[in-house]
Amino acid sequence: MSENIEKLKQENAEERPADLFRAFSENYRWENVPFLPYKEEGTAPFKAISRQVLFQNPELRCELRYFEVAPGGYSTLERHQHTHGVMILRGAADVLLGNQVRPVKTHDLVNIPPMTWHQFRTKGNEPMGFLCMVNVDRDRPQLPTEEDLLLLRSSDHAVAAFLSVY
Ligand code: MN
Repeated sequence: MSENIEKLKQENAEERPADLFRAFSENYRWENVPFLPYKEEGTAPFKAISRQVLFQNPELRCELRYFEVAPGGYSTLERHQHTHGVMILRGAADVLLGNQVRPVKTHDLVNIPPMTWHQFRTKGNEPMGFLCMVNVDRDRPQLPTEEDLLLLRSSDHAVAAFLSVY
């Protein structure tokens, strides 16, 4: 069993009874759930995102996080071996997934396979929030090289337009 899982088991052993139930509150916050930055500043390009870890259970071997992207914001363009299961909870976005760009809206599902480039960009004036399920044990995301970006841009017109900000 990995160090990650052992560490989480220790943390969960100290779980307070109050954590069994955590109420949803204003502005898509949850009781007793820390409101965190998306990633450490300077580790990867992203804009205007917060992170809340809703479930982090070593028995499930997965985490469920809620990310929220402010208008004009975006997640990191990245790929990795681990996969994501995503459900949009509020707002709308364009999603780059592999060689395609698709619009998504509240309650849509996005399945992100291994080693597939992905990025979320908000659309409109509302925040875009999504649930993201991920394995507790996961590899470090890769960022695109100039060559990767060239390949992506040449794959499809919509992808090229999506990536015109780079
Ligand atoms: Mn990812």
